[in-house]
Amino acid sequence: MLIDGAFAVASDNAWITSLNPATEAEIGRVPAGTKDDVNRAVDAAERAQSGWKQKSIWERGALLRKVAAGFRVRAQEILTMEATDTGNTIAKLRADVEIAAGYLEYFAGLGTEMKGDTVPASATGLHFTLREPYGVVARIVPFNHPFMFAGAHLAAPLMAGNTVVIKTPETSPLSGHLLGEVCQEILPAGVVNIVSGYGLPVGDALVRHAKIRRIGFTGSVATGLAIQRAAAETSVKHVTLELGGKNPLIVFPDADIHKAVDAAVAGMNFSWAGQSCGSTSRLLVHESLYARAIELTQAKVAALKLGDPLDPASDMGPVNSIGHYKRIMALIEAGKSEGAKLILGGGRPKGEMFKRGYWIEPTVFADVTPHMTIAREEVFGPVMTIAKWATVDEAISIANSTDYGLTTGIFTHDITQALTTAKRIESGVVTINGSGMHFVGLPFGGVKNSGFGGEESLDELLSYTQAKSVHIML
Ligand code: NAD
Repeated sequence: MLIDGAFAVASDNAWITSLNPATEAEIGRVPAGTKDDVNRAVDAAERAQSGWKQKSIWERGALLRKVAAGFRVRAQEILTMEATDTGNTIAKLRADVEIAAGYLEYFAGLGTEMKGDTVPASATGLHFTLREPYGVVARIVPFNHPFMFAGAHLAAPLMAGNTVVIKTPETSPLSGHLLGEVCQEILPAGVVNIVSGYGLPVGDALVRHAKIRRIGFTGSVATGLAIQRAAAETSVKHVTLELGGKNPLIVFPDADIHKAVDAAVAGMNFSWAGQSCGSTSRLLVHESLYARAIELTQAKVAALKLGDPLDPASDMGPVNSIGHYKRIMALIEAGKSEGAKLILGGGRPKGEMFKRGYWIEPTVFADVTPHMTIAREEVFGPVMTIAKWATVDEAISIANSTDYGLTTGIFTHDITQALTTAKRIESGVVTINGSGMHFVGLPFGGVKNSGFGGEESLDELLSYTQAKSVHIML
């Protein structure tokens, strides 16, 4: 862990061993942090904050750019560790370091946008607002892209003048150490602190800590709810949540079915075994194209090559942990027993290299109806579902029928149809004729149980500031 500019072990010297999910071999260990460790990290962040806040936006921006450069210098090392620890395949994973560096540079340039307002509130006075940092911010990171999230999520709070304590995930924590080495070299001690360990006690202690008033969480709905409860029990805190998704891709009768299926399969993110909040896990196809959609999806998914995450030729690796493997397998069984039609996969792949590790075949179900468990619950695994619809109202009703609302894809050439559907969809992000897209500068985030608080945009930066009104009575 990185606490106050130095690497630290847990106060009780306990450790978490990290396994390579492709082989179950032990590949490293991180401290299993304690509440005392969290307290030390928050104290260090608090001590560092006044000095950090007093730096100009130019000085803070320059340091963030240096951290971005530090990521790039060590990209190969970071990616090798990340692919080995997460199971994500290396070819597509290469973007993760670049994305983290890109967000540091983007926010580094946005300092002058932390503007206040002047308001003519009285005839004789001057009334304006200032944007000020919260102080110490907690950012809690999930297992699927730990380096990318931890690295990118530093940017907005730091630029706004906060210091940060990051909590890394327990099942793929190793790249957090490399992040710590880059931050230690470039930033003043205590500006970024990294704690590792389990949700209980480490995440919970962070959330409950009296000095933390701002929490940015990325993870599951269940943990998001626990964080809201825990935060509310201690003090008034600003919590933003980036949670799960059960993302539909709606194909209209006029769509190019080849392009729609390509987008759906690409959007499933099989490169990370479907472990992506934005995975297009529900392909909703008009009945006129339904049979063709099943055929094309089956062929495209069957062609994916499972293999060593470090081999650039591999399209998909294992899922991240034994716990997650069991959860996904149980959901696949629910799909089978509730009457969905298994088109592809549905079990453990055959072959010597898949005997150990958390391997699951890319799986496709058709004839999925909205009441089925696999139509409602986020699998967060390599499982696609296909369903058919007859009328636009039916398509929108199926799309909106889950508690989630993260991303939606719409395939049609009819601009009116596309835009009216986009307006009726309960989703934080809608992509017309595409899937799973993020564009720097536009808020990414969910509605309903997918969370609130758009990130990757100016909204994220401003959300790490709070407005203070100042009245000058002339
Ligand atoms: P998770 O909720 O199990 O864990 C996320 C983090 O929270 C981990 O670091 C964990 O240790 C910590 N945590 C667990 N219990 C806690 C508690 N009580 N208090 C504080 N922290 C606690 O999620 P996961 O399994 O790591 O990640 C998968 C989930 O993340 C999926 O639902 C996925 O959709 C979601 N996700 C969302 C986005 C997004 O941008 N919307 C991005 C990636 C992942």
